[in-house]
Amino acid sequence: MSIKILEDKCTGCGACLSACPFGAIELKGKLAVIKDNCTLCGACVDVCPFEAIVLTKDKPSISSTYSATEAKGVWVFAEQEEGNIHSVTYELLGKGRELADKLRTELCAVLLGSKIGNRTEELIQRGADKVYLVENEQLLNYRSDIYSDALVDLIRRYKPDVILAGATSVGRSLTPRVAATLKTGLTADCTSLEIDPEKKILLQTRPAFGGNIMATIICPERRPQMATVRHKVLPEAEVDKERKGEVIVAQPQRALVSNIKIEDIVKEIDKTVKLTEADIIVSGGRGLGKKENFGLIEELALALKGAMGASRATVDSGWIPYSHQVGQTGKTVCPKVYIACGISGQIQHLVGMQSSKIIIAINKDPEAPIFKVATYGIVGDLFEVVPALIKELKK
Ligand SMILES: Cc1cc2nc3c(=O)[nH]c(=O)nc-3n(C[C@H](O)[C@H](O)[C@H](O)COP(=O)(O)OP(=O)(O)OC[C@H]3O[C@@H](n4cnc5c(N)ncnc54)[C@H](O)[C@@H]3O)c2cc1C
Ligand code: SF4
Ligand code: SF4
Repeated sequence: MSIKILEDKCTGCGACLSACPFGAIELKGKLAVIKDNCTLCGACVDVCPFEAIVLTKDKPSISSTYSATEAKGVWVFAEQEEGNIHSVTYELLGKGRELADKLRTELCAVLLGSKIGNRTEELIQRGADKVYLVENEQLLNYRSDIYSDALVDLIRRYKPDVILAGATSVGRSLTPRVAATLKTGLTADCTSLEIDPEKKILLQTRPAFGGNIMATIICPERRPQMATVRHKVLPEAEVDKERKGEVIVAQPQRALVSNIKIEDIVKEIDKTVKLTEADIIVSGGRGLGKKENFGLIEELALALKGAMGASRATVDSGWIPYSHQVGQTGKTVCPKVYIACGISGQIQHLVGMQSSKIIIAINKDPEAPIFKVATYGIVGDLFEVVPALIKELKK
């Protein structure tokens, strides 16, 4: 794609300047000039009253690996660690089943690993019609290059229409590699997935522009259509012990050779429950004042057998590791109870926790935006409220 200003038409009226969300247009005398940070989003084109902005869409020069008419089936990448299936897989199988039924096609899970054949049954019980199983000792631990090679190999052979993966650390590293290799599109961090009833394509919806709008993205020509979904956004598929399915044991057609050598795997040691698995989360914000005061959050989390969350402000200040961050650039959580202590409730934090069943906000500012999403709001000093809660819970 390319963009240009037609000098003979531009009057220098300046209408396009405010239309550009990236500040990528400036006026030089009576002429609009496009700057290097233009993303070719097209927002300025229709705003120009003199049709002086022309955006040219080049025909894609690289063809899709296979065509939409050849493609069939909805696939879910079954993420596993040490042979245990990550629960985001069950969430994706629930949504995948729904999408596959709407497309009148099969739902398949793809399981890569070493000695994990005993895990196929649970994928079928959660809704998969088929499981593609690749067992290879090279796949024991996740390594982006060979996992991508193995998955691409399967995709080229079996030509799925849709591939879903969790927006986990593994999913976020694997899917862009696969999409780039296959020259197809990928929508990261979707919050909703539907099928267009007429065109039978995947409608991939996700927050855009800092969560201010919801954008629905499509991949009409290339295949597979690829999307990642964050953990805990979708409900898990129910278990049906009677379900039967097929297991297709596939071997990669080429030897899996990785350029990545794993020296050591260091597990994070945490006294509290894992954030994304927790039913109760107690989160701390800048209102805590200093790093040491996270001890109070930890004490409340331990008393509730919950996990510890944090706002980005506290992570950026080095008060708590990034793995605890909730929000747009952190984790999305959906616990039964979310307790926000000294967190103002900016949109980037809210997008990561506003689906929680019950939200309790403790903030000394009655106007704090967190109270707009809170089920229960406590206007008060967290250094009084939190110790009082801990004291009551310990009784
Ligand atoms: C691209 C981008 C991505 C971002 N991603 C994230 C993200 O993933 N997660 C995230 O959290 N933020 C994110 N942010 C940052 C976000 O915009 C806010 O800056 C951040 O959430 C603010 O953190 P906070 O609420 O802890 O701090 P503040 O906004 O400073 O709020 C502190 C609150 O504590 C209250 N308070 C102070 N003292 C007390 C007390 N003694 N008792 C009770 N209340 C008290 C204050 O009234 C105030 O409301 C992102 C920003 C950008 C631009
Ligand atoms: S195409 Fe988008 S980014 Fe580029 S100048 Fe126009 S509005 Fe700005
Ligand atoms: S809106 Fe059109 S005419 Fe006005 S400055 Fe921009 S390009 Fe030129």
